[in-house]
Amino acid sequence: MPARVSEALVLRTYPLKEADLIVSFLTRDQGKLRGVAKRARRPKSAFGSGLERLSHVRMGYFQRENRELVNLDSCELIRSQFTLVSDFATSVALDYFAEASELLLPAAEPSEKFFRLLLAVLESLRPAAGEEDGASGRLWRAVTYFSLWAVRLSGWLPELHACLSCGSHLDDPESPERAFFSRGRTGLICGHCRQTLGVGNTWELSRESRTIAGHILRQPVAQLASGGWTQETAADLRRFLVQQIESHAERRLITVPMLENS
Ligand SMILES: [Zn+2]
Repeated sequence: MPARVSEALVLRTYPLKEADLIVSFLTRDQGKLRGVAKRARRPKSAFGSGLERLSHVRMGYFQRENRELVNLDSCELIRSQFTLVSDFATSVALDYFAEASELLLPAAEPSEKFFRLLLAVLESLRPAAGEEDGASGRLWRAVTYFSLWAVRLSGWLPELHACLSCGSHLDDPESPERAFFSRGRTGLICGHCRQTLGVGNTWELSRESRTIAGHILRQPVAQLASGGWTQETAADLRRFLVQQIESHAERRLITVPMLENS
C-alpha cells in the first residue's frame, strides 16, 4: 500500500456508513480521486475542518491497486474558504465551482491546469489590499472566468468566431454578424442560419460578451478589472457555457439557478 501526499482541493463529501465519509477531491498531481475518510464525522476526527468544500489541503492517502476508492489517512489544511462563505452569494458560487468540477473532471486524469484554475478563481474572490467592497463584481468575474476555462480545459469549448452551420465568420469587422445559441446544439449559429434552420428557442450571444470571452482566454483572472462587473455582465456567455456543460454531461447543474437568483 503506497502512501502518498498530494496537494488537493476538496470537491464534495458524501456520508458513508457509521461515521465515515466518501470524499471527492482534486489533486494537483493525480487528478480527481475519491476516498474513504474513516470516522471523519466523529468529533475530534483526524480530518478536522479540512474536508469542507473547496478546502485547500495536503491530503495523505493510500492507493490500492484495482480499487476505485483510496483510503484517506490525514488532511492538513493549507487554506480554508471560511472567510468567503460568510457571503451567501459567494458561498453558492463555491457550490457551483465544486459541482461543475465534479461533473467535468474525469477520474484519475491529472489536470494541473484545472487545479490552478480553481485556486486562481478562489483567490480572485478575496478583496485585494486596500479594496473593501466589490464582492459582487469579484463574484461574477470569477464565475464567468471559471465557466469559460472549465469548458475549455474539458475540451468542450466550440469555435466562437464562426457559424457552426454555414461556417461564416461572425467577427468580420466589415460586417459583424449576430450570434445565437440554443440548448442541445454545440456552438454558435449566425442570424441567417437561425432563420433557415428553424432551431426553436435561441438566445443571442452579444458581441460585447464575445469580446469578454476573448479577454478571459488571454488574461489571468486577477488582471481583469472587477470594478465594472455586475450580474448582467456576460450573463449570456454564462448561459451559453452552462448549456454546453449540461448538454455534454446530460445533466442539469443544480447550483446554477441558485446562483443566478441569489
Ligand atoms: Zn450560418
